[in-house]
Amino acid sequence: MNVLVPYTTIHPDTYAATAGARRVYVGSDDEAYWRMLRDTWWQRRSTIIVEHDVVPPPGGLVGMAACPCDWCAFAYHCGDIWTTALGCTKFGSALMARNPDVVSRVAPGQRGWNGLDGVVIGELHRRGEREHVHIPWAVHHHDDTTTRRITMTKLKYVGDGSRYLHEDYFAGIPPIPPTDWETDNETAIAVCLESGLYVEDTSGDTKAEKAQAKADVKDAATDAKNAVKEASDAESVAAAEADKAAIEREAAEAALGHYPTY
Ligand SMILES: [Zn+2]
Repeated sequence: MNVLVPYTTIHPDTYAATAGARRVYVGSDDEAYWRMLRDTWWQRRSTIIVEHDVVPPPGGLVGMAACPCDWCAFAYHCGDIWTTALGCTKFGSALMARNPDVVSRVAPGQRGWNGLDGVVIGELHRRGEREHVHIPWAVHHHDDTTTRRITMTKLKYVGDGSRYLHEDYFAGIPPIPPTDWETDNETAIAVCLESGLYVEDTSGDTKAEKAQAKADVKDAATDAKNAVKEASDAESVAAAEADKAAIEREAAEAALGHYPTY
């Protein structure tokens, strides 16, 4: 099995776990990784990619090479989510033959190493391909501690309509339409933004925020109504207490023999 390790700096554990692999330096520019993948695709040669900071579990690469599936991946921790990406993935020659243009057609501007996984995997999913997820997890020695957003986010579709991200590529991503949409699914937001097919729409409130604002207005109206009711209740209580005091006063006067005059 052809094993490629695209790298800028190889983690020692990755190095140790990939003896015999071909190491490909991809630090010359942002698109070097894409070119490596494109060339691999051209060769139609079944290949396992192990990124420079990902460590497959013991025996993982052997198991993946032996697996009859033609798209396999170990999931790993990425940012603050567990997901498959390109980090430890096998692309079989049959998958390449069925989708010969999936890498070469990635548009200029979307070929950077940082979003390439989302674009390629998203397109393969859109075409109905599904990866076989291997367990256990691979280890990812990435110090990316950026917390992904979990608030409702409006996403504006800026693709050309021919390509978009489809749905879950590993865990719990809702269907992604090729239109503007909004979601609070952190994985979906990250995948959309990283794919370059969507940008965040900051032009106004999200539907959820608008609904909340409407609810706030309604709440304020209800509060005002309640305040009026409470005020009138307080008035009734005061009146009742005054009545009670009058009755008590009369009773006291009666007890003393002073009859009230009518
Ligand atoms: Zn497999």
